[in-house]
Amino acid sequence: MNTKTTVISRQSLEEQFSYCDRIAALWAGAGRTPKAYVETYGCQQNEADSEKLRGFLAQCGYAMSTEAEGADVVIFNTCAIREHAEQRVFGNLGALTHTKRRHPEQKIFLCGCMAGEPSVQERIKKSYPHVNGVFSTHHLWQFPQLLWNVLQDNKRLFYTEDEPGSIAEGIPQVRDSGLKAWVSIMYGCNNFCTYCIVPYVRGRERSRKPEDILAECRSLIESGVKDITLLGQNVNSYGKDLDCGVDFADLLARIAQLPGDFLVRFMTSHPRDASEKLFDTMAAYPRIAKQLHLPFQSGSSRVLKAMNRHYDRETYLNKVAYAKKVMPDLVLTSDVIVGFPGETAEEFEETISLIQTVHYDSLFTFIFSPRPGTPAAKMEDTTPREEKNARFDRLCAVQNAISEEIHALYIGKTLRCLVDGQDKDMLTARTEGGRLVRFAGDASLIGSFQMLTITGATTWSLTGTLD
Ligand code: SF4
Repeated sequence: MNTKTTVISRQSLEEQFSYCDRIAALWAGAGRTPKAYVETYGCQQNEADSEKLRGFLAQCGYAMSTEAEGADVVIFNTCAIREHAEQRVFGNLGALTHTKRRHPEQKIFLCGCMAGEPSVQERIKKSYPHVNGVFSTHHLWQFPQLLWNVLQDNKRLFYTEDEPGSIAEGIPQVRDSGLKAWVSIMYGCNNFCTYCIVPYVRGRERSRKPEDILAECRSLIESGVKDITLLGQNVNSYGKDLDCGVDFADLLARIAQLPGDFLVRFMTSHPRDASEKLFDTMAAYPRIAKQLHLPFQSGSSRVLKAMNRHYDRETYLNKVAYAKKVMPDLVLTSDVIVGFPGETAEEFEETISLIQTVHYDSLFTFIFSPRPGTPAAKMEDTTPREEKNARFDRLCAVQNAISEEIHALYIGKTLRCLVDGQDKDMLTARTEGGRLVRFAGDASLIGSFQMLTITGATTWSLTGTLD
């Protein structure tokens, strides 16, 4: 794989905008507003990429649709992390034969992490002839050109060459919310955890320049955004490729000093690179949310080594202890994989004991899913599925009890929360740590920070009253 980062020039991007203009003119000539539907699978990085696709589509004259039926363009922005997610995409892609039969001019595209897998590209070529185009994450910035070519020739196109990782500044975005925003600060990953496909499909780490990120955050805050999440597969290694003397903690501190009433948070942190400097920075600035997603994946040092995680149980626990010391109200979440190849019953018990020691607010729990092309997919895996399911259920039960216990401790506290929506006759809000609070109030409060006193708690959410 070519590992050199390419910064997409303004001129190259202008060329893409000229394709947008041509597509818009095409539809203006047809005398109707075309519709586009973008379906997003997987992580926040994909959500952020879909906002860019919608930005391009809007510039091409498309109105967004909430369903594939009747849409002129359908894009599936996919995730390759688990086999189950891939099967769901193939199932939903198959179902599009019906929408296309009713609307033969419909153009269907597949992008995201799955599009970077050669096996997926082959399967689409052979078995999904109704799909018009496939483009990997490296080619997202060329989507207008791809769409134009497909509209012109109706030929199937695959923009999937193994390009060097790129950074394109200035792609328009149609954001899902005016209140919360994702900001990608870097792309790709260098870690090669043995179970993970991401480095193969998203390329090597490349960081955006600090000044570009600050300008984007400033403009978001000025437009009324109150909650910014900085995104990267491993935000803690931000800046290592730039050589500009700004690391992730420095970047966070600069954003936290921008004028305005907002919170900034981030994901995902790799424990190897999570430093005391980062935790001290989080503690020092009120605008940095005291929320940390720090995936541990396993409580066993042997399994962590087999996963190529570059930290052991003790190092992880020491980092968490430091973070909690400097941020006593820290909301801590994590990812864990159950049933990694070779995980013994004793090693699973180490995972349970780590969860009980750390006391996470919540966990994202997964049963190991072998991804073709990764080292872990070739490892011997003798644990029966039933045993993995039983471990998974036990782990969830342990975590649910902890989440319930932690939530109960919120009762009686008064917290500053961002009111972000409405659910039936209640308003919804988020605590600084991202916990969901339901309360009675006027819809005019949506978009503001309010002090809420917590009056009730379940495993998953809190209820409160306006202070
Ligand atoms: S840090 Fe590991 S799990 Fe996360 S994206 Fe990189 S390789 Fe995958």
